[in-house]
Amino acid sequence: MATQRLRLPENEPGPFFVDETCIDCDTCRQLAPSVFARSSRRGCSYVAHQPVSELDRRDARLALVACPAASIGTSDKQGLTEASRAFPVLVDQEVSYCGYASSDSYGASSYFIQRPAGNVLVDSPRAAAPLLTRVAQLGGVSLMFLSHRDDVADHALFAQRFACRRVLHAADAAADTRDVEQTWDGDQPKQLADDLLLIPVPGHTRGSAALLYRNRYLFTGDHLWGADGGTRLAASRSVCWYSWPQQLASLERLLDFSFEWVLPGHGQRFHAGSPTEMRRALEDLLRRLRRG
Ligand code: SF4
Repeated sequence: MATQRLRLPENEPGPFFVDETCIDCDTCRQLAPSVFARSSRRGCSYVAHQPVSELDRRDARLALVACPAASIGTSDKQGLTEASRAFPVLVDQEVSYCGYASSDSYGASSYFIQRPAGNVLVDSPRAAAPLLTRVAQLGGVSLMFLSHRDDVADHALFAQRFACRRVLHAADAAADTRDVEQTWDGDQPKQLADDLLLIPVPGHTRGSAALLYRNRYLFTGDHLWGADGGTRLAASRSVCWYSWPQQLASLERLLDFSFEWVLPGHGQRFHAGSPTEMRRALEDLLRRLRRG
């Protein structure tokens, strides 16, 4: 947990605080937006408002647990044990958010899909004991989808614990992922199961891929995300490490698929009311990006 000695002066006085070790990953601001805000001057988070309601206190505790840098502290220890056991927390239907972000993936979000044919882990959270225990109680993991080379974090520990099959595009396999159970190649979508489709989306990295689940949820890694409180879609040349023209082409390709949710590694989630609305949002993003 964070230390008082390094407490940022921007924090509102009270039990919760952020210290100087914050890496500005956005996890806390997404989990508890009424408590945490971003200081653009410092380039990190701080406690803008101490939580007042029990719901806000719960969200602040979840942020403390999820923080990849242990940069959040509190003098109020009540409820922390419960918060440490709360992840994965529900996003929608059988899709949950894993919390326990890892600094190895710069605090990227990872997700858990509970499905009768075998549970899926989307990218790797920190292999924290309470999360491993909870995932085991929920039936373990049979498949681990790795969206790209940057968000693999503790993939090996999850594979060891749950004997799951890890899937990664061959173009993003590296020294730390060369032993994954399944790599795939090429630029064509690949059906993993009736309800799971791999879609190559090169751009951010050469081997970036999205996972489409039930034609409803698209897990996008760092290819595409929500912005402005989840009111629009976004992608950015500033975090494109491989090819921006290819990333634009990959975004355009997503128009061929039907989905309602964008669940990214970094950035906010985006939920459209229908596949038609998602298509409109994607077309709007492409227009904005092409205008430059
Ligand atoms: S979750 Fe932690 S590291 Fe990330 S922005 Fe918040 S305080 Fe900083």
